[in-house]
Amino acid sequence: DKFSGLGLNDWLVSQCRAVGMCKPTPIQINCIPPILKGQDCIGCAQTGSGKTAAFALPILQKLCEDPFGIFALVLTPTRELAFQICEQFTVLGKPINLQAVVITGGRDMMAQGRDLSNHPHVVISTPGRLADHIDSGTEFSLRKLKFLVLDEADRLLEDNFGEQLKTIFGVSSKKRQTLLFSATMTDTLRDLDVISVNKPFFFEE
Ligand code: AMP
Repeated sequence: DKFSGLGLNDWLVSQCRAVGMCKPTPIQINCIPPILKGQDCIGCAQTGSGKTAAFALPILQKLCEDPFGIFALVLTPTRELAFQICEQFTVLGKPINLQAVVITGGRDMMAQGRDLSNHPHVVISTPGRLADHIDSGTEFSLRKLKFLVLDEADRLLEDNFGEQLKTIFGVSSKKRQTLLFSATMTDTLRDLDVISVNKPFFFEE
């Protein structure tokens, strides 16, 4: 029942403690080891279960081994969720000076374009605005992406984000790990042809 038993490096275990995370939650205990081993993962859990750290911690560990941008892309349905995820990445990644940016609608395209071109380690975005940047030729690349995370995947796949997701997956590395988190397990999620999920580790709370 300790973060150190999950295969995380000392600096991440200390950082968890520093932000008040003393014991890993069930989704963290179950999902962190397979993600560290390189497996794709589908996790079902509610907000408040600790799912953000369940993907942020292994991503930060892998990033630390070979830091470059853009290393991970997290897609989420709302602006508010995007900012919450960014906040958790930023506090947990402070010791490695993590550069994370939020790309959502309602903000200046030019300033965001500059943020994307600066090779941030992690991009957290709503699908619409990221697809806009791809369509309008903003200079950034997802071709070396190591992680693609779909947060609230049930909502992403059912809320008419289909075209935008296709645009984003079309320019993303196929060699990445795909991590999917969802409050509910839906049929759309079970037979996912939209996304390449490779023999995923399944966790349902
Ligand atoms: P989430 O389910 O990712 O939305 O996380 C909900 C809240 O729980 C966040 O504010 C986290 O900082 C916090 N949290 C995540 N993991 C832990 C943990 N192992 N112990 C205590 N708090 C945690």
